[in-house]
Amino acid sequence: MRETVCALHQELVRNNLVAWTAGNVSGRVPGEDLFVIKPSGVPYDDLTPEAMVVCDLEGNLVEGAFSPSSDTAAHAYVYRHMPEVNGVAHTHSTYASAWAARGEPIPCVLTAMADEFGGEIPVGPFALIGDDDIGKGIVAVLEGHRSPAVLMRNHGVFTIGDSPKAAVKAAVMCEDVARTVHLSRQLGEPLPIPQGDIDRLYGRYQHVYGQRSQR
Ligand SMILES: [Zn+2]
Repeated sequence: MRETVCALHQELVRNNLVAWTAGNVSGRVPGEDLFVIKPSGVPYDDLTPEAMVVCDLEGNLVEGAFSPSSDTAAHAYVYRHMPEVNGVAHTHSTYASAWAARGEPIPCVLTAMADEFGGEIPVGPFALIGDDDIGKGIVAVLEGHRSPAVLMRNHGVFTIGDSPKAAVKAAVMCEDVARTVHLSRQLGEPLPIPQGDIDRLYGRYQHVYGQRSQR
């Protein structure tokens, strides 16, 4: 899991989702009440599997030479309250955060959005870093929601997945559609997709699309 989570941080860089040391990925350790997360303030170029830190589900450091990411409490809260979630990613990616700054959900106006998010990408509450407020906001919005991504108001993106890779994929897709819908807005009013078609697209993508074993 240290290797997986370390490698996925390079995907944040490769996809231009992060600046400086912002952003983080975590992954639940299978069968344990533990997760692996990025150390706080370590440059992306210096991240190694050994530098990753292991925390318990209260966010306490269990193993590692560095202190855990400042967003650890939010990740821990999600793992405690959403047992089906095995990966969490967080970025301040530009276009998605621009929507978050306005507190506006990204409307579902692209088939790729219907596929991946099953509708609009919702907005979560304004919350300060440090205690459980961010985690509470993420869980309150995403529990029972199709979208694996939430735009935390005035902040950025949190995504969840059944694996850390799925969470990172959602972060990449979120930024991609945030940019396209923003550009569309500059040209006029994007056309909505009827709910029935959103449902059909979502159902097909989630259950039929791709290779059987790997998505
Ligand atoms: Zn942040």
